[in-house]
Amino acid sequence: MPYGYRGNVLRVDLSRGKILLDKPEEDIYRNYIGGRALALYYLLNELPPKTDAFDEKNILIFSNGVLAGAPLSGASRFSVVSKSPLTNTYGEAEAGGYFAPELKFAGYDAVIIKGKAKSPVFLWIKDERVEIVDAEKLWGLTTGEAQSGIRKMFRDERIRVASIGPAGERLVRYACIINENRYANGRGGMGAVMGSKNLKAVAVRGMKKFKMKKPEAVKALARWFGRAYRENPDASGLHKLGTPKYLMSLNLSGGLPTRNFRAGYMEDAESMSGETLGEKYHAGQTGCYACVIRCKMNAKVKGKFENDTQYGAPEYESIGAFGSCCGVSNLEAIIKANEICNRNGVDVISCGVSIAFAMECFENGILNKNETDGIDLRFGNANAIVEVAEKIAKREGIGNLLAEGVARAAEKIGRGAEKYAMHVKGKEIPMHEARFKRGVALGYGVSPTGADHLQMEHDTLFEKEYYVNRAKPLGVSRTIKSSDLGREKVELFVKLQKWYSLANSLELCFFTLGSGRVWEIPKVVEIVSAVTGWKTSLEELLKVGERGITMARCFNLREGVTKKDDVLPDRLFEPLENGALKGAAIDREEYEKAVQAYYEIMGWDEEGRPTKEKMKELGIGWALRAF
Ligand code: SF4
Repeated sequence: MPYGYRGNVLRVDLSRGKILLDKPEEDIYRNYIGGRALALYYLLNELPPKTDAFDEKNILIFSNGVLAGAPLSGASRFSVVSKSPLTNTYGEAEAGGYFAPELKFAGYDAVIIKGKAKSPVFLWIKDERVEIVDAEKLWGLTTGEAQSGIRKMFRDERIRVASIGPAGERLVRYACIINENRYANGRGGMGAVMGSKNLKAVAVRGMKKFKMKKPEAVKALARWFGRAYRENPDASGLHKLGTPKYLMSLNLSGGLPTRNFRAGYMEDAESMSGETLGEKYHAGQTGCYACVIRCKMNAKVKGKFENDTQYGAPEYESIGAFGSCCGVSNLEAIIKANEICNRNGVDVISCGVSIAFAMECFENGILNKNETDGIDLRFGNANAIVEVAEKIAKREGIGNLLAEGVARAAEKIGRGAEKYAMHVKGKEIPMHEARFKRGVALGYGVSPTGADHLQMEHDTLFEKEYYVNRAKPLGVSRTIKSSDLGREKVELFVKLQKWYSLANSLELCFFTLGSGRVWEIPKVVEIVSAVTGWKTSLEELLKVGERGITMARCFNLREGVTKKDDVLPDRLFEPLENGALKGAAIDREEYEKAVQAYYEIMGWDEEGRPTKEKMKELGIGWALRAF
């Protein structure tokens, strides 16, 4: 077993009540490293093709990074992977917090869950002791109540709990998994897959240290990060305001998704900015395991939208989705809607975009008050975002329709509603305006999990020399405009996509690394070598990233998700209504050419299928049988 790992993959069959242990060979660890790539290796090998996401045969994998539990900032995240019930594609969601290190301390690199329990259960892992425990009393509880219920049951406040809320139990197709009341494996409905298996939570307590090859070198790297962080303006701003710090600059650039992506500028954005959040509602600060940035804010609201502080403050994505995207600038209502999502286990992006979709349908007479439970569902209605978010979590009235996601909801409504359904492959588009950042547009289109803003470092950075210089180890050589979608931008996209895919396999936080942030690219190679003892290189590690992208593509191809699905909604080819980018639109022909160039650069054929040669070069020839 290599240093840094535990050498154990836990296998749980909920149908049979069986628990087994796998001991992967070193070459599995070296080729797939952890997180996304390791989980994909198991998913692609073990999930029968065309399995329905809610079928008990679907597999749910909790997959750690090799760095989890090391005393390093931004290095202790984990992926949850499955077939997504929202998109019917490969599904993946990452979260920070404290769950991943605890799983490592308990002695496991991953947990593979199959089958369906006859009645509600949770998985209890305490070092070697692993049990499937009755969860009848936890079913129906919020994520916070489930966590405290399990901690009380075992009289241990340090148990780490990844739990679903009522939304996952009710199979809301974008239900998420929450740990520590705020850290979400947010996207693609991983919480709904848990719910379909009658699995309320995975609870972990671990007491065993693990071995790193060069612990002193790891500590020196941690000290280096502490110094570099203080000098990095991007990271120190992140500590103060969290991701909401980006809201005002995006608005001024004309890239803040507003009123269901019709516009790029929100008139009264100051009232919901990061600065306003910090000044008026700040109620404490926290962060993930060992991370010095501590970018997570608590918020406190009193009065009509009084919130429960333990569920944290909204991130930029949440303010965008419930705020500008719904035409709402009432920050108190946004904080409350965010709390409703974390409490019930609902993805904030899909929830907000689903409400914005319904608002546009309502304003265009496609939905009426009889269909919205009497709610005046217009853009700007702050009460409505709170009311409808709660209804979605409960699958109640209009919430039951929107809990299906915008693609399915539009199909059910008919009457031209699909025009307002902002999604890619069934997943709601995040709060990054694709007409502003064209690399992000390509990322939305070709992402294996549907619209995802974390496919690459965002385009705006590459307009500046500073970031280009920092990305030089990846082969980035000169600045390029955000609005560019030519061949050079696609080449940049591919380089960064491999890097980001690697980050999701190492489980590094995107806020801590990359071309603009603290962990410089060569430092990441140093970290992996110091923890594992492998004499690795950036080239070898980027191959892991590429393997991840390619295996995800193979998974989708065998599920019937192909080139025809690498498309964007029509609205993104239409002009933005206002703001600094008023009139900007993506050129359809340019986008289609970019997709074709992407296939070619990736070594895929014209239909977007990885070639035999490419698969063999990546050492994943075994996956050819998948499609
Ligand atoms: S930067 Fe923020 S999200 Fe990332 S690891 Fe640190 S505290 Fe967690």
